[in-house]
Amino acid sequence: MPVLAPGTTLAAAYDFVIVGGGAAGCVLANRLSASPDVSVLLIEAGPDHRGRDEIVDAARWDRLLGGELDYAYRSTPTPQTADRPIDMPRGRVLGGSSSINAMLWYRGNRADYDAWEAAGAEGWGYDSLLPYFRRSEDKPGGDPAFRGVGGPMRIRTTEDVHPIATALIDAAASLGHPVIDDANAASNEGAVWADFNAVTIADGTLERWSTARGYLEPVLDRANLSVLVDSRVLAIELDGARAVGVRHTVDGMTVSTRASEGVVLAAGAIDSPRLLELSGIGAPEVLASAGIPVRHALAGVGENFQDHPLVLGMNFRARSPLGPPRGNGGGSMLNWRSSLAEAGPDLHTVVAHGSRGDAALHAAHDLGGDDVFAIVPGLMRSRSVGHVHVRSADPDAAPDVQPNYLLDERDFAAMLEAVRDVHELLASAPYREITSGPIVPAANLGARELGDFVRRNVGTFFHCSGTTRIGTDEGAVVGPDLAVRGLDGLWVVDASVMPSIPTCNTQAPTIAIAERAADLIGVATGALGDAA
Ligand SMILES: Cc1cc2nc3c(=O)[nH]c(=O)nc-3n(C[C@H](O)[C@H](O)[C@H](O)COP(=O)(O)OP(=O)(O)OC[C@H]3O[C@@H](n4cnc5c(N)ncnc54)[C@H](O)[C@@H]3O)c2cc1C
Repeated sequence: MPVLAPGTTLAAAYDFVIVGGGAAGCVLANRLSASPDVSVLLIEAGPDHRGRDEIVDAARWDRLLGGELDYAYRSTPTPQTADRPIDMPRGRVLGGSSSINAMLWYRGNRADYDAWEAAGAEGWGYDSLLPYFRRSEDKPGGDPAFRGVGGPMRIRTTEDVHPIATALIDAAASLGHPVIDDANAASNEGAVWADFNAVTIADGTLERWSTARGYLEPVLDRANLSVLVDSRVLAIELDGARAVGVRHTVDGMTVSTRASEGVVLAAGAIDSPRLLELSGIGAPEVLASAGIPVRHALAGVGENFQDHPLVLGMNFRARSPLGPPRGNGGGSMLNWRSSLAEAGPDLHTVVAHGSRGDAALHAAHDLGGDDVFAIVPGLMRSRSVGHVHVRSADPDAAPDVQPNYLLDERDFAAMLEAVRDVHELLASAPYREITSGPIVPAANLGARELGDFVRRNVGTFFHCSGTTRIGTDEGAVVGPDLAVRGLDGLWVVDASVMPSIPTCNTQAPTIAIAERAADLIGVATGALGDAA
């Protein structure tokens, strides 16, 4: 069935209603509708992704931020981030954030997932997830023990390499970091050419490959799958302790659609807990302060918000103009440890074509010209934990998004180390050959000035997660089967279920979670039928 336009007749009921057509939602729509006997409705708040050149243009992905396909959330300021609200983009379009993200395809390492299992997420360790990572991807030429071929997500490295990206690999090697072939195989420590969810087109440039392209487009002709765009879910409808459908907008009106097997929430780490709270599912004190009657008390909803902080303002000038951006504007990455006490790489950096930093940084420094590039270091084992909560019963009211970046002093210390290490990379021979040095920050800042720079320039690596975490303890929101604890017919399947943030970008893990979730839900409800 083609994508439904607003106003098109909807059925009154489906077996499953999936809320959110993002990274996870498109996976679920594909897998849950694999059996023709199961009817599935996917509801997406944003528009159709097709026909929008700005989405597929990999090199200019950052131009999507703050535009019409971005929810453009902002964090609640804290002293640790110099009292600045931080932009928190999220995709509002089919494919969700996979349609606006930087396309790095990176799954971290075994320890990230084994920690989930050890914390009570039974069945979510690396050995259980590895088949789903492999099933999700089409990565030619990888080690088959780790990499998949023929899956929906096309994964490529960039063939059109820029010297600023090559220099990162050479600089890292010159300082003694390992150079590895594949960060998604046995070890992720060292310098490496990054994988992207993208296809290479004729002239060697990359074109984005979102979950909407990989999972949804190929199955849009299934008669048992309906996709509704430009329709926002306002609440989950409950009958006692059972989710029976959703209330959502269609063409300016509010309608209800029933789900006989249940509702699968895949609205992402900000909007999934928000929708639970708007539906009266959450911590009683949070709901009371927002004026929402409690339908189901669940203390952990919206807690355990985790993200990776980065430093956005490290800008350098090349000795000659860079020309047009290639790859995703970068192409290489380095994963390393802030201290030998870390069990694995906790720092990560990428190269970015063009200047990076907020308006204040651009006002204070000359960051213009075609010769400017940035190195963006991030902390991948962040220990600060925040929350996201509704502030009122009004679905249009902005939520309180509180990442608490740098609240844990260990995160602050690691970010200082990351900035110093980037300066060391840029002082090495491979970068000295092509750069005339830093624009900002200066390489010789004292500890106090450097700390100030970090607080003023910390931002998000865009990896919001953890706000409806898996577990069996009081603070867990979903059980290992991803069903909301204490309710029937309601699951959460997206980045919010991660018990702790893995030391990598979060799209590949979210897709693997959704792949496994579809099997779990399909088997639990009998929905997969012959497709199981
Ligand atoms: C700018 C940016 C850059 C990033 N870069 C990378 C990267 O390079 N590599 C990487 O691995 N990860 C990256 N990420 C993170 C990655 O994209 C996310 O972790 C991943 O997409 C999360 O998937 P999800 O399904 O949880 O949420 P999303 O993909 O965000 O999908 C949620 C969907 O739900 C919809 N929705 C929300 N509320 C409602 C509602 N009420 N009704 C109906 N629909 C609703 C949204 O419109 C959206 O389509 C980036 C993210 C951003 C924003």
